[in-house]
Amino acid sequence: MIAQVSVSGGKDSTATLLVALETLPRDAFVATFCDTGNEHPMTYEYIGYLAEATGVPIKTLKPDFTDWWWHRRDYVRDHWGRPHKNYPDGVPQADIDRVLSFFEKGPTGNPYLDLCIIKGRFPARRSQFCTQFLKTEPSNEYALELIEKHGAVESWQGVRAEESANRAKLPDREDVGGGLTIFRPILRWNVDQVFAQHRKHGIDPNPLYKLGMNRVGCMPCINAAKPEILEISKRFPDQIDRIEEWERLVSTASKRGMSSFFPAPLGNRGDLMGRNIREVVRWLQTQRGGRLVDMFKAQSEPLMCSSAYGLCE
Ligand code: SF4
Repeated sequence: MIAQVSVSGGKDSTATLLVALETLPRDAFVATFCDTGNEHPMTYEYIGYLAEATGVPIKTLKPDFTDWWWHRRDYVRDHWGRPHKNYPDGVPQADIDRVLSFFEKGPTGNPYLDLCIIKGRFPARRSQFCTQFLKTEPSNEYALELIEKHGAVESWQGVRAEESANRAKLPDREDVGGGLTIFRPILRWNVDQVFAQHRKHGIDPNPLYKLGMNRVGCMPCINAAKPEILEISKRFPDQIDRIEEWERLVSTASKRGMSSFFPAPLGNRGDLMGRNIREVVRWLQTQRGGRLVDMFKAQSEPLMCSSAYGLCE
């Protein structure tokens, strides 16, 4: 049996890694980091720092969607022209040609962006395919490799009960079957204990916390709250520029020629058409903007990632 410690660059997973370091022989665990391609550069640097400071190599799990990319190109070519309930005469040939010529350029190599281009949209709270394909599945695939080699895997997850009502219901230990168990060593910890664990080992937390971020993970996360998006726009305008460019690329690959990073207010996707991240930020800064701002008011506290695996902070 071997333990697999999931590291995200956030405070909780770092504390979990430090618990493993304290309590397990060095050859009884491995550490993994899921690279979504949507992390802040400081998080990538932090993962390198953490590996060096703890002496624990951190294996990066980064999915490659090249095969999916070409399947999607073929699907667009062979199926989009057929009648469909939303397109009784099929998708217009000009739109098919636009999307096909985009796909002919080949994948970008950024997992988050390639996944969104293939899907023709960004993930949303009710369609959180980012967590599934960028974190859960790569982690599970690696766990299967470990199970083959070591017979069983104990997956160490840095989630805490006080983070959300859903996480409060989780057990400390869970038998998933097939040789996989989940262990949550810091489930009952509070945030002070988490930072105390860093200090005890002389490990710095991810510097993003000192720069106003509530959590560390995708920059931004689709579940980011209004204050967090504002903070990102002020401190890291380059990340907003990047998302704006991603919106342009995903739009080009989508049927309707438009896609925005944040979902529409009140679940009405049509309302957000043409409202890109730049516009969202502008509205949040000015506290204007009607329904869109209303949506973010309802979300003034950050939502938690719904993954029971706790792979997103
Ligand atoms: S951090 Fe947010 S955007 Fe990133 S994979 Fe998790 S839910 Fe998706």
